[in-house]
Amino acid sequence: MTRNKRPIYLDCHATTPVDPQVVEAMLPFFTDHFGNPSSISHQYGWEAEAAVKQSREIIAQGIRAVPEEIVFTSGATEANNLAIKGVAEAYFSKGRHIVTLQTEHSAVLDPCAYLETLGFEVTYLPVCSDGLIDLEDLERSLRDDTVLVSIMAANNEVGVLQPLAEIGQRCRDRGVLFHTDAAQAIGKIDLDVQAQCIDLLSMTAHKVYGPKGIGALYVRRRNPRVNLAPQLHGGGHERGLRSGTLYTPQIVGLGRALELAWQNQTHEQARIRALRDRLWQALEAIPGVSLNGHRTHRLAGNLNISVDGVDGQALLLGLRSQVAVSSGSACSSASTAPSHVLKALGHSDKLAHASLRFGIGRFNTQAEIDQVAAICQETMGALRQVVMG
Ligand SMILES: *Cc1c(COP(=O)(O)O)cnc(C)c1O
Repeated sequence: MTRNKRPIYLDCHATTPVDPQVVEAMLPFFTDHFGNPSSISHQYGWEAEAAVKQSREIIAQGIRAVPEEIVFTSGATEANNLAIKGVAEAYFSKGRHIVTLQTEHSAVLDPCAYLETLGFEVTYLPVCSDGLIDLEDLERSLRDDTVLVSIMAANNEVGVLQPLAEIGQRCRDRGVLFHTDAAQAIGKIDLDVQAQCIDLLSMTAHKVYGPKGIGALYVRRRNPRVNLAPQLHGGGHERGLRSGTLYTPQIVGLGRALELAWQNQTHEQARIRALRDRLWQALEAIPGVSLNGHRTHRLAGNLNISVDGVDGQALLLGLRSQVAVSSGSACSSASTAPSHVLKALGHSDKLAHASLRFGIGRFNTQAEIDQVAAICQETMGALRQVVMG
């Protein structure tokens, strides 16, 4: 008998494996070059500081920022918290209104909800049935006391890409700061904080073949200069915005992961898109299957489907020994609540439950995609017979 095979991994929106080239870049900084980047009096510190500086430069260049505008954090959750709570606190006397989207990640929604308990007002904009923002809704929501608009670049469930430049320009025209959670987008679509008028941008390494536990926040320094109230106080690292000894190996990993993604972005995304389209072609033919989110304004590796007429729980149970995918919302799949994103797109609870999110990535092959298509056809066909019978 052959060894038990692990399921095919198609959950790249939840996390990705670390690319071996990233691991290789990180390793010396655990052992040989272990110095504290803040130690300015000896070589150990200088080596670590040089690596941090290089990583900061790579990241800044990739989004058309300058190195001083990059603040390292533990990931996108912390970056979002720093952006939203940091702006709210710093602009308290200017206004207390924030605009965001109903389909945001909980790492944006929850800081906003927290601010509401402190007396801030938050507008949660609805989305169209394809998941896209209505720009007129956005314009109407902006007020004289609006201090921040936080709209994600790419959605983690349905992969929908929001029109960043159009949003950014509207915010800039009204003198409102624009933050975008780019955790799913960075390294996959072009991000340009100048052309897209982005004032704050959150990123994380582990969605783009880097390590978990590291991310960064871009904070604009001029035209306009963004003020932020730090959320972690201590030794004054990161120009006082985020205290705590810099995690050199992880910072090197973030820089290297993004460097690799950007070097090969066009080619890699085209390959992944072709795999995604191949999977969709196969699944589309199955009765009851429909696509969630905009057909083209979406991440290349994302496919999110609903299967009408089958039980969502049974579907996941039927698939999970062979395919690692998410249903409903990955981030709250411990709960049985239907995905807030699919509900915002107008789905019933039942259809939201009977949904699957495929996240195709760098290490998936065409053979895997074909296997997954066959597994889905078989499982969904069998479940439908149960329902009909
Ligand atoms: C994964 C994710 C986050 C959280 O990032 P962490 O680095 O895991 O904290 C935030 N926003 C979006 C859109 C995500 O996909």
